[in-house]
Amino acid sequence: MGDLSRSEIDYIALACDGVRGLRPYLPGKPSEELERELGISNIVKLASNENPLGPSEHALQAIAQASKELTRYPDGNGFSLKSALHKRFGIDPELITLGNGSNDLLDLITRAYADAGKEVIFSQYAFAVYALSTRAVGATAVVTPAKNWGHDLDAMLAAITDRTRLIFIANPNNPTGTALDEAALRLFLERVPAHIIVVLDEAYSEYSLDDAFPDGLKLMADYSNLVVTRTFSKAWGLGALRVGYAVANAEITDVLNRVRHPFNVNSLALAAATAVLDDHEYLEKGREINALGLVQLAEGFDRLGLDYIPSVGNFICVDSKQDAADLYQRLLHEGVIVRPVGNYGMPQHLRVSVGLPEENQRFLDALEKVL
Ligand SMILES: *Cc1c(COP(=O)(O)O)cnc(C)c1O
Repeated sequence: MGDLSRSEIDYIALACDGVRGLRPYLPGKPSEELERELGISNIVKLASNENPLGPSEHALQAIAQASKELTRYPDGNGFSLKSALHKRFGIDPELITLGNGSNDLLDLITRAYADAGKEVIFSQYAFAVYALSTRAVGATAVVTPAKNWGHDLDAMLAAITDRTRLIFIANPNNPTGTALDEAALRLFLERVPAHIIVVLDEAYSEYSLDDAFPDGLKLMADYSNLVVTRTFSKAWGLGALRVGYAVANAEITDVLNRVRHPFNVNSLALAAATAVLDDHEYLEKGREINALGLVQLAEGFDRLGLDYIPSVGNFICVDSKQDAADLYQRLLHEGVIVRPVGNYGMPQHLRVSVGLPEENQRFLDALEKVL
């Protein structure tokens, strides 16, 4: 290689084995980008499962206050936020790891426990980041077939080998919105060998209105290999700030903190997340708007004769019965951004985030027009 001239060097070929095969994560299209490209204004973005209410006043005030200290490094231990999580949910602060969004935590867990020769199990139609993180560390992704669009826990159990180190489960799952009940999860956790770490990704668990919806934090008392991740990006309305948390046993938490970057959560995010935990009205309002929106969208799909996957998240997948990538483009021209999920192996589905009632209606009207 020393003989190659600069222009002959292939810097992609030089990347690590796992990294070479990756494709970058496809984010939802930002409204400003669509505005720039098509000159459309009054855009409705229902593409990234964001909270349609806008940020909590508590968060905005906390950010204004924290912004006076921008020259200082953030608190690398996140003392205030961990205390607030303790106060709100009773979580032992010693067992919390904070992340730059929960994506950061999914990545930390993978880096800490998997590498070449190890296997990581997740389901077909599971969140794209599980595959990205797994492949980036050179580990092998073992993808089990879905059942009714959701996780087939028996298939996941059957996929366990001597090389399995991690299992990712999202409850509810994105992009399909399917959920597992507590009995099914417990039966599964009973059977997973305790040296295999099970990550329960609860990015959307706040949206379930069912009191019986499983609470990963409670399950942790019985299963030492369970790690629960949560985020402030969805129901708490702070997607832009990038803050999430993982709860795990003391040893796993120790390990995660060895690979965590020292100041991975910035001080504005820490302040806003701490403040929003006290805003009970905000969370409740978001849950109500979401429940109404899911009904509104489902009724709209029924009227249009379209099937959808019943969802307990803040989004819903509808079967357009045609190439959804094309439909997505036509919706863009109507000023409506949703998410095609062909990259998840669902070429006819669109994933629509639940918006405000008028936003949902704009989407349904546009959909009817372009179908
Ligand atoms: C949105 C989402 C997350 C959270 O991502 P952040 O990095 O916290 O913004 C995690 N898991 C799933 C399944 C998600 O859809």
